[in-house]
Amino acid sequence: MSQIIHKQQTLRERLEILADAAKYDASCASSGTAKKNSLGGKGVGSTEGMGICHAYAPDGRCISLLKILLTNHCIFDCHYCVNRKSSNTRRAKFTPQEVADLTINFYKRNYIEGLFLSSGIIKSSNHTMEQLMETARILREEYDFRGYIHLKTIPEADPQLIEQAGLYADRVSINVELPTRAGLTKLAPDKDEAEIEGALAKTKTRILQAKDERKRFRHAPRFAPAGQSTQMIVGADDANDAAIVNRAAGLYGNFGLRRVYYSAFSPIPDASAVLPLKRPPLMREHRLYQSDWLIRFYGFGPNDVADATEKDGNLPLDIDPKLAWALKFRGQFPVDVNRASKEQLLRVPGLGTTAVGRILKARRYRRLRLEDVGRLIQSIAKVRPFLVAADWRPTQLTDRADLRAMLAPKQEQLELF
Ligand code: SF4
Repeated sequence: MSQIIHKQQTLRERLEILADAAKYDASCASSGTAKKNSLGGKGVGSTEGMGICHAYAPDGRCISLLKILLTNHCIFDCHYCVNRKSSNTRRAKFTPQEVADLTINFYKRNYIEGLFLSSGIIKSSNHTMEQLMETARILREEYDFRGYIHLKTIPEADPQLIEQAGLYADRVSINVELPTRAGLTKLAPDKDEAEIEGALAKTKTRILQAKDERKRFRHAPRFAPAGQSTQMIVGADDANDAAIVNRAAGLYGNFGLRRVYYSAFSPIPDASAVLPLKRPPLMREHRLYQSDWLIRFYGFGPNDVADATEKDGNLPLDIDPKLAWALKFRGQFPVDVNRASKEQLLRVPGLGTTAVGRILKARRYRRLRLEDVGRLIQSIAKVRPFLVAADWRPTQLTDRADLRAMLAPKQEQLELF
């Protein structure tokens, strides 16, 4: 009995350590996975089931994941990482069977809908990748688990192992870690940018190939149907926001990534002297996500985002990047809500994609007044200086020197929301 309790405690303790160690990885949100279900009593798990939801995926779906590391032992020595070889942290390790069992048990209790599994590098990249893959294999082949699986893949591992992992996982990710090659060389000396990009490129090719095969043969195997994602650490090196956004745009373009995640560098115990002493403001991470959104959904390019930055190449923290851009390019405003193109309307601060869609639809039937626009959006105050409506013209408002101060959210609101 005491042996069982001891074993349970050990498992719980390891879970505590390895779940805590995984919290630094932001690249685990899920979206766009193929729908699977266990209707008809076949298989376990579902990617469409209702459960406890902890995170919103970009497509609006809620999904909760068991997010852990297989182990936080690591033979690499990335300066920014609490699990690096030289770190004095508590170590723990699961076997693939244990992670598979935990996943199934948590799933059956409705705690989770899927698994996000990453790992420190143990023994070698190939050995680690084999263990990650084996976990997914047990889940899929032995437990017939049909929930969501996201595997972090190891770029240095044999491509055949990554290939196999992609056949079990819904999504795979390979972290580029730092926005610049110089940053990577300085802070992650065991990693190689060419190797990381090579793995991203191979995965992209394989995903496209699998999609193509599925079009021609209905039973062709799926390969990472929810695509690949990556993560960049922000604030550990001196790359500014313009450089980070530019790198992210390149990654989307070159490797067909579903998402680039940003993770604000978090100071760690016994940190190396090459690291900054403080974490960057969390708002910086938020502004980068907003810029990412502008590029993916609002027709902005990385150069537009760079134009919105301050002298140091970083985005302002007190206002969002779209407003920062509009304040710098006031000559482009005001735009006429009844005549402007979709692209012009999408540049108006305070108008989201949904509101623009509604405006375009509504103005087919009547000329819109400011009040009509007000009904379609959250706050009219932000858009007023940038819009012309049937009964509204901002006259001097767009050129006011204190416009930024008028539109910037109050400091208290910024902290809270
Ligand atoms: S490879 Fe680097 S980032 Fe990954 S766990 Fe090891 S030390 Fe940390």
